[in-house]
Amino acid sequence: MIEVKNLTKKYGNHVAVDNLSFKIEKGQIYGFLGPNGAGKSTTMNIITGYLASTDGSVTIDGISILSDPEKAKAKVGYLPEMPPLYSEMTVREYLDFVAELKKVNKSERKAKVKEVMEKTDILDMENRLIRNLSKGYRQRVGMAQAILGNPDVLIFDEPSVGLDPKQITEVRDLIKELGKDHTVILSSHILSEVSAVCDHILILSKGKLVADGSPEELKKMMGGSVEIEITLLGSSDSAADILKDISAEAEITDCGLDESGNRKITVSSAGGEDLREKVSLKLAENKIAVIGMERKEKSLEDIFLELTDNNETVKEDK
Ligand code: ADP
Ligand code: MG
Repeated sequence: MIEVKNLTKKYGNHVAVDNLSFKIEKGQIYGFLGPNGAGKSTTMNIITGYLASTDGSVTIDGISILSDPEKAKAKVGYLPEMPPLYSEMTVREYLDFVAELKKVNKSERKAKVKEVMEKTDILDMENRLIRNLSKGYRQRVGMAQAILGNPDVLIFDEPSVGLDPKQITEVRDLIKELGKDHTVILSSHILSEVSAVCDHILILSKGKLVADGSPEELKKMMGGSVEIEITLLGSSDSAADILKDISAEAEITDCGLDESGNRKITVSSAGGEDLREKVSLKLAENKIAVIGMERKEKSLEDIFLELTDNNETVKEDK
């Protein structure tokens, strides 16, 4: 559907997008995740033909955005970070205007504008001036203009920024709904948002792609390490030694005794293998009593922080 190859964008000496390559397949919801300044907006502006790249290529359905921009652009609906909404127009006037720009057939224009207003649930607002709309409604108008012309791909840059929690939920639901009929790419610096709606996540950091996969794959890929924390009754000195050969992938760490004098051991398996059964059977065989066992999985959040070595709070940015 979309193929980005060796994309680079420099602003003077500053490399905003650094030799980026990836593919977007039809019919999925993709998330560009990365801290501020990672290059998300720059990449989206290039894919949509609003900004020229320094190097590299972008094709949409095999059509180059560079050599055939008109045709390529027609396949994409874009909600930029700051949508150019005309504040002195009413919602309907604005969408009529966009429909004209997008060359929607005159005879169908009225029906198409109504259709996108229905989809984004803004029919009640059609005669309001855009400047009098709340941020949440403005965002919907921005999404409505992106959907006009029924493009295959929808690209939304930080669609939830500045919205209150209720509006965020509504926009998320709307994106999921749109994902049924369109390929969607959205960007966000908030992990929870991307993991809530996207089938596939591309993590950007300093203009580079640092990870790419489904939320599940990312968890696995990133060391996928699953750790179990075991508490054994009493000193159980020999436990670490007994567990040593349990699996080639396992790493056993003896953490010593806790305040009650019970031994703590952690077993981590790099491949993500669940070793709980093996561990408990082996210990039972050796008459060591297990009084606690907890499985800890690396969260996507840990992965994101590791990859972007970013210490800002990204979990709930509100
Ligand atoms: P994101 O959307 O991930 O926050 P951007 O694509 O907006 O990131 O920016 C990537 C980098 O490029 C940042 O370091 C930003 O400061 C820089 N940048 C973006 N736009 C311009 C511009 N017009 N001129 C100079 N530098 C820019
Ligand atoms: Mg941005």
